[in-house]
Amino acid sequence: MPPGELLGMSHTLGHRLRDGGFPSPSETRKTGVLIVGGGISGLSAAWRLAKSGVDDFLVMEMESEAGGNSRGGQSPLVAYPWGAHYLPLPTREAIYVRDLLAELGVLQGDPAAAKPAYDERYLCATPQERVFRHGLWEEGLLPHRGLDAAERAQQKRFHDRMEALKQARGRDGRRLFAIPMALSTTDPEWRALDQVSFKQWLKDNGFTAPTLYWLANYACRDDYGTAYDQVSAWAGLHYFACRNGEAANATSDTVITAPDGNAWLARGLAQKAGDRVISGAAVWRMEEGKSGVTVDVLVGEKSVRFEARQLIWAAPAFVLPRVWPAIPADLKQACLAGDYAPWLTANLHLSDLPEERHGAPAAWDNIFYDSPGLGYVTATHQLIRRRLNGTVLTYYRALHDVAPAEGRRLLLETPHAAWAEGILSELERVHPDIRKLTTRLDVFRNGHAMRRPVPGSLYHGQREKMATFRSLRITLAHADLSGFSLFEEAQYRGVLAAERVHLMLRGLLR
Ligand SMILES: Cc1cc2nc3c(=O)[nH]c(=O)nc-3n(C[C@H](O)[C@H](O)[C@H](O)COP(=O)(O)OP(=O)(O)OC[C@H]3O[C@@H](n4cnc5c(N)ncnc54)[C@H](O)[C@@H]3O)c2cc1C
Repeated sequence: MPPGELLGMSHTLGHRLRDGGFPSPSETRKTGVLIVGGGISGLSAAWRLAKSGVDDFLVMEMESEAGGNSRGGQSPLVAYPWGAHYLPLPTREAIYVRDLLAELGVLQGDPAAAKPAYDERYLCATPQERVFRHGLWEEGLLPHRGLDAAERAQQKRFHDRMEALKQARGRDGRRLFAIPMALSTTDPEWRALDQVSFKQWLKDNGFTAPTLYWLANYACRDDYGTAYDQVSAWAGLHYFACRNGEAANATSDTVITAPDGNAWLARGLAQKAGDRVISGAAVWRMEEGKSGVTVDVLVGEKSVRFEARQLIWAAPAFVLPRVWPAIPADLKQACLAGDYAPWLTANLHLSDLPEERHGAPAAWDNIFYDSPGLGYVTATHQLIRRRLNGTVLTYYRALHDVAPAEGRRLLLETPHAAWAEGILSELERVHPDIRKLTTRLDVFRNGHAMRRPVPGSLYHGQREKMATFRSLRITLAHADLSGFSLFEEAQYRGVLAAERVHLMLRGLLR
């Protein structure tokens, strides 16, 4: 068994937030804006504040480094992701994503162009993806080998339907499924789709082909960590119909990626905040007063009290009631209403490229048709070097086949060796020499990785209470306000929160 560690979000600290027992604050500091959480939403709030000329802010991040679900690691050979790994080409609505990419030099020319050109080093090199099915790799995501005419016809009908949904608009003139999701049509006819599951929608619309069911389930597991019979049809359709971004120098299905996944985006956002991002700082108590918010933070072994004029909550919603004793009752109910999908990722360090099975050549994203894991991405795929001494594969698995609480129990109790054995035997099916080549295998556990968009949760439950919450001193951010977790959603919520706080600081909003 290769050496490696069990890593992940610090559950001991997380459980301490629930159970209490923190030292009393030994000093008090002041700041203009305190941002809680250094994931994409918190860093985006900092990015936006800094761009607006506000520099009196601090970001408190509980873990040893910022980035949240978009963190990465580094080996002597290559950087690699621990979570988020790609960004689709930004749509016309995703203006903040375009701004950021332009600022980082990746989007070239006018950020508002219909088809901007992108730095080719960040456009996923071909082949982008392949799927392993019935002992063979097939190019692309949707299996096509050995299918009968009826199944192929259904695949085409599904594809045409999604293309039509991409173009269509609701009665208010907005796209049916936009990203950020808050910009989608408010048409009740389309929002009603939130009440059935995606699997049910497929059935109701005469889609029965096994490969289509697999694709829909894969999409929901991949983006929502949840099986398609437990995902809102609105969210399922959003996956397929929201992404219509185009590029001057790539096909529209090309994704933007880097060896370390989306960690470079987190770093890019954090640049503007500089040393105002404080890691290893867990917020454990907050209280809203007349002139500001008092926040107690565990930094190392001692607690520090911060007095801030404004607070942006950019940590997961379920944590908020644990640290804000006086949270309004309906907000508390909304924060606790949803559940979170548990996830596991693993990085396998290989001494050489692995042996290949028959079929399509190695791609960036290598997907398994019939397996507990989703597949793996290859960190060295974007490197333009002729000979590499090895690679790093990032294996992804959402624990969608058990209840979330059971998934968290498994994450806590399963030893490293058991995960490593399971992952190696899964990968051995596609790369027979994987055990021989793996020099290190680290496992990353994330018990509350992303809020699950279950039927009813987006437009018929509590989510909107969080998205519309207003108080004088506290503004919410985080992807949880969208009901599902994507870079575009997290960034949008962070930017919106920063804009509101900026107006509050200037006395232009009450
Ligand atoms: C395995 C995996 C793969 C993914 N792949 C993609 C992908 O390819 N593309 C994509 O767009 N999205 C992907 N995502 C979704 C990803 O979650 C979002 O892109 C984004 O990173 C979410 O950012 P966030 O700020 O909303 O949340 P988070 O990443 O959850 O950030 C919240 C932060 O708050 C901190 N925090 C919590 N409590 C406290 C406290 N009390 N005090 C201080 N800090 C606290 C946490 O440590 C964390 O850093 C993936 C997610 C996972 C888990």
